[in-house]
Amino acid sequence: MTTSELSSAVKLLNDATTVAVLCHSQPDADSIGSGFALALALDRLGVKVQVTFSYPDRLPASLDGIPGQRFLVAPEQLHTADLVVTVDCGSPDRVGRLQHLLTGDVLVIDHHASNTGYGSVNLVDLSASSTTAVIADLLDALGAPIDAEIAHCLYAGLVTDTGAFRWVNPGTHTLAERLLATGIDGAEISRELLDTHSFTWLHLVGRVLSSATFVPDAADGAGLVYAMATQEDLAGTAPEDAESLVDLVRTASEALVAAVLKERAPNWWTVSLRSRGGVEVSPIAVRLGGGGHRYAAGYSATGTAADVLRELLAELG
Ligand code: MN
Repeated sequence: MTTSELSSAVKLLNDATTVAVLCHSQPDADSIGSGFALALALDRLGVKVQVTFSYPDRLPASLDGIPGQRFLVAPEQLHTADLVVTVDCGSPDRVGRLQHLLTGDVLVIDHHASNTGYGSVNLVDLSASSTTAVIADLLDALGAPIDAEIAHCLYAGLVTDTGAFRWVNPGTHTLAERLLATGIDGAEISRELLDTHSFTWLHLVGRVLSSATFVPDAADGAGLVYAMATQEDLAGTAPEDAESLVDLVRTASEALVAAVLKERAPNWWTVSLRSRGGVEVSPIAVRLGGGGHRYAAGYSATGTAADVLRELLAELG
């Protein structure tokens, strides 16, 4: 992210009187935190702002306590806007059925290695721990103060995208300290976002981890550990319950690559990839139609479990 990209982004926002912020499909705390933080700041500057995402039709329960929800509308309720902003979306398909809105002035705010630069201005910082960290830089450039409500939103993205401050960069803790100094309850935000699941999640973990399989030869000998969550496994659990499974699977020291295959609809899967280092999973996800970061990426696939696994193993090499 260069100073000129930052000033172009500030100019786009200063020139807009109405802004539509698009989060990615199945939004996480980084995308929603970015969207709501930006909306809160723009609203205080007198800009009319709405936030939306294509799927599903409600926020994950873990985000019930996040400030800024008054800006959230269903895609059908979106007004025409001078400027469309996407947050935490590495490619146009991440906004799902809202891709038709990506015409005219589009400001892309992101931190994914796989970002395709589809905006008229692309504020993409690959060294940022979260998209909310990029938003913090943007708000500073805009001269918009970061109060406790905005800090809550920014912290939500920072704590989740860093895996509770495991995957950090120089500056991560400086930003965290600045946000905590506004008086937000960091422990409570982390508990809501990272340490709260339904009781059924415990059984989901049990079933899915018992399916874990080790493929030593995969990824040119780096090794793969994968687990499958079928529709039957996922029945009665929230979509976000399945997202934490890969964090357990990736801890196996025998393999550098971990994958969780989740059957979201009959023969429609979302696949999460993680790397312990040495193998970059973002290019693999991109080749399979998805994207992400060097060590955390994902994609969707169709077919039987065996089809999806075969495709993944072939791409891993
Ligand atoms: Mn992110």
